[in-house]
Amino acid sequence: DRAPAALELTEVSVHFGGIAALDEVSLSLAPGQVRGLIGANGAGKTTLFDVISGIRTPDRGRVELLGRDVTAWSPHRRARAGLRRTFQRVQVFGWLTIEENLLVATEWRGGGGGVLGDLVGAPTRRSREAARRARARQVLATCGLEDMADRQATGLPTGTARLVELGRALVDDPAVLLLDEPASGLDHAEADRFADVVDAISRESGTSVLLVEHDVAFVLRHCHRITVLDLGRTLADGTPEEIRSHDAVRAAYLGAA
Ligand code: ATP
Repeated sequence: DRAPAALELTEVSVHFGGIAALDEVSLSLAPGQVRGLIGANGAGKTTLFDVISGIRTPDRGRVELLGRDVTAWSPHRRARAGLRRTFQRVQVFGWLTIEENLLVATEWRGGGGGVLGDLVGAPTRRSREAARRARARQVLATCGLEDMADRQATGLPTGTARLVELGRALVDDPAVLLLDEPASGLDHAEADRFADVVDAISRESGTSVLLVEHDVAFVLRHCHRITVLDLGRTLADGTPEEIRSHDAVRAAYLGAA
């Protein structure tokens, strides 16, 4: 049999009153794949991210992560199973250094794990922290931020702040990474630099990426596959070439692009 998809949605539906925010949406994310999710306002993109991350339970349908049915799992449990998400609003802690910003999630999760880890004979807390620090240094290099590691993360240009956020999500080597409008607020060069990092980690670490983005040109340039949502339904699913030449998609979203 083939390796399971990193993420698999099967006929997921979510209703708000009489409105179907998602209507039997299916989607598969192969290991190392970068998939873009586009669609007009109200198409269901945010609802889909909420269903994948476990903030919202679908009325019908199934969510699988690395072949396991996680439909009923909490967001926390999904995170431990290898799912990470960034949000539309940049979340960088200005009173910490850039490196500390990458390590901050560890500190939050450190508590219980230390005791349990010792009980099952896992590496001691100190050696794990050293390993994470080394991993953070690696990620900083991947993001091109190694020279800024000790800089306080205040007043950063949006492009740099988004790389710091991306770095934080990458420290734990997620299997699946959800990015919410990563190109928003970035100029062309910054957006392409961000996409280069995403491309590198998908190839080198096998991380699968699903990104919601209003900038359709960005998605066409950088994603391996694209899903187009329209009023809660999948209008199209294909390569950038296929999406570019899809009549209904052209009519609805691409205009003269
Ligand atoms: P945008 O690009 O504007 O963020 P979107 O593609 O993310 O839009 P969703 O936010 O997922 O779309 O919304 C899908 C549909 O579900 C819309 O009709 C929206 O009005 C409706 N909806 C979303 N959240 C709720 C809610 N909490 N209560 C009622 N209706 C909702």
